[in-house]
Amino acid sequence: MLERVLAYLDEKHVCPHCKTELTLCNAPPMHVGDGLGWGSEFLFICLNDECPLFVNGWEFIENQYGHVGSYRHMELPDSQENYSMMVGSKFAFTGCAVDIDALRRQSVRYQAEKMAAGQLCGCVANKDIRPVIHLLTDNAADITLRRQAAELLAELNDIASIEPLRNHTFTDPSLEHAVNLAIRQILANHFLRECPYCAELIKARAQLCKHCGKELSAE
Ligand SMILES: [Zn+2]
Ligand SMILES: [Zn+2]
Repeated sequence: MLERVLAYLDEKHVCPHCKTELTLCNAPPMHVGDGLGWGSEFLFICLNDECPLFVNGWEFIENQYGHVGSYRHMELPDSQENYSMMVGSKFAFTGCAVDIDALRRQSVRYQAEKMAAGQLCGCVANKDIRPVIHLLTDNAADITLRRQAAELLAELNDIASIEPLRNHTFTDPSLEHAVNLAIRQILANHFLRECPYCAELIKARAQLCKHCGKELSAE
């Protein structure tokens, strides 16, 4: 669904009646006229209240059908098909506009996730922690991918992975637990521990923290 609507973001549709650019909207569930679906979840609609089709439509419908209504120009995405769609009020469809900025942000995040996912299987061989850190610190990324990333963490055994993970707030408790276990493993492999007072990395057998000077109990 996201992929499909992203392709529509680059489409430019212009209203033949007023030359205004059409707005990408979520399609209403049913075609008011014939009870069939639109065949598309999205429609390009002229929401310009000054559009001649819309302005003149009120009188036309009043005279023709004797009720209150007008027309909005509408085009189907990825198609030449267009309609004059009957609307009962000025506000029909004004709340249906697709939030394009939100979609673009979602898209940027999604592309980055896809790239990290592609790099995941080679990351141990390449000693590259970036895709693992990327996936683990993106709470919106696919949870299966993130669990895979957590499994690779101890294998990568990179001290540099600890800081960004400690700075991240996990929303999934089981993933957070897996990351904590991996960090504990990495620290043990390097004969290190985290100072309980200042969180800096210190030698596991240190009796004083070299960063904050606090006295440490044996682990
Ligand atoms: Zn128009
Ligand atoms: Zn300390």
